[in-house]
Amino acid sequence: MSSESKFGDYGGQYVPEALMPAIEELTDAYERYVLDNEDGFVDEFRERLREFGGRPTPLQRADRLSERYDREVYLKREDLLHGGAHKLNNALGQVLLAKYMGKERIVAETGAGQHGTATAMACAHLGIDCEIYMGRTDINRQRPNVFRMRIHDAEVNPVDIGSGTLKEAINETMRDWATNVEDTHYVIGSVVGPHPFPKMVRDFQSVISEEAREQVRDHAGRLPDSVVACAGGGSNTMGAFHEFVGDEDVDLYAVEAGGSSLTIDEEEGLAPHSASLSTGDEGVLHGARTKLLQNPDGQILESHSVSAGLDYSGVGPELAYLADEGRVTPVNVGDDAALEAFHRLSRMEGIIPALESSHALAYLEAAALGDAPDDLGDLVVVNVSGRGDKDLDTVIEESERRDIDAAPTMEVFR
Ligand SMILES: *Cc1c(COP(=O)(O)O)cnc(C)c1O
Repeated sequence: MSSESKFGDYGGQYVPEALMPAIEELTDAYERYVLDNEDGFVDEFRERLREFGGRPTPLQRADRLSERYDREVYLKREDLLHGGAHKLNNALGQVLLAKYMGKERIVAETGAGQHGTATAMACAHLGIDCEIYMGRTDINRQRPNVFRMRIHDAEVNPVDIGSGTLKEAINETMRDWATNVEDTHYVIGSVVGPHPFPKMVRDFQSVISEEAREQVRDHAGRLPDSVVACAGGGSNTMGAFHEFVGDEDVDLYAVEAGGSSLTIDEEEGLAPHSASLSTGDEGVLHGARTKLLQNPDGQILESHSVSAGLDYSGVGPELAYLADEGRVTPVNVGDDAALEAFHRLSRMEGIIPALESSHALAYLEAAALGDAPDDLGDLVVVNVSGRGDKDLDTVIEESERRDIDAAPTMEVFR
């Protein structure tokens, strides 16, 4: 294992022998095409992000939030990327890479269906076969996304093992990849998994901070005091942070899902939250050493969040490293605060954010007006990782249950 596969003690390639040929071939392709721009890969990727994806996405001043928090608040609008979230940056990059590698078939896992949908879109755009593994439980609760994937001509394979959610879907996709290495590439959905995935996915997502760094200088004449992004696996997070990591005066906040509580039920093997970066312990999951939600025996705990995209027991190894180094500050906000932030942005700024992104927005409220320490500074960039249309059913149901004051308004129109 080369030292470059690691971030301090985190990362690496903890995979079965059968997967090593695939990992080695991918590492070689990553270095040649993505890092060295062989055959003009990077140029084609950038052009397709513009023409198919609609990049660059705007950096927009949020006028009423700026007033409310008494500082300059800018929103990086990844919700306006084709497909409605940052996920396309990575899916398009990896599917294009697979074509450069001469692969004829794509496999991918999906949890809530957002990554599966982005991958299916990229495959349809580039004319390559696509199979998605999705847990049975997730299929039943995310039907619209299953239809979206099928509309793009992807096959959706149900996974019946265990709890039938994301963790099992990743295992099944790795198994498929290991047996079909010759013609297949595995498009992983976040900055997780064995090297080179965490670095490669980060590189594809870094376009977010490349643009934002330029844009904030154009708008405000200087770099921001802080950048705030939600973290599930952490791909929008690393994408929003990467170009700022070397800017020592820019503070980076990774906002995790605090769920309904931070207290773990060890007997049931359940964590009522997904705050692996803030509260997890070191361990190995899906091919990488990172911070995980686990019991003292190393058993992985089921996570929870009102936002499906943040509901994962692990986190990217680079974020774990940057958090230990003190470069990234891990924080978390609960389900209720995220729901309130969802309604606040919708009412005050005319933007319906994804429930995932609502966590980043909720931290801004907590720091400026609530209980969290306010060290965000006078100029803040918040990454709006996606739009919330996909979350409307959940938001209506969960807001009514909690008596959040936007709920009765919705009742009238039922
Ligand atoms: C999937 C998703 C996330 C969480 O994934 P990361 O890898 O942590 O970025 C965040 N926001 C949206 C809109 C998503 O779809």
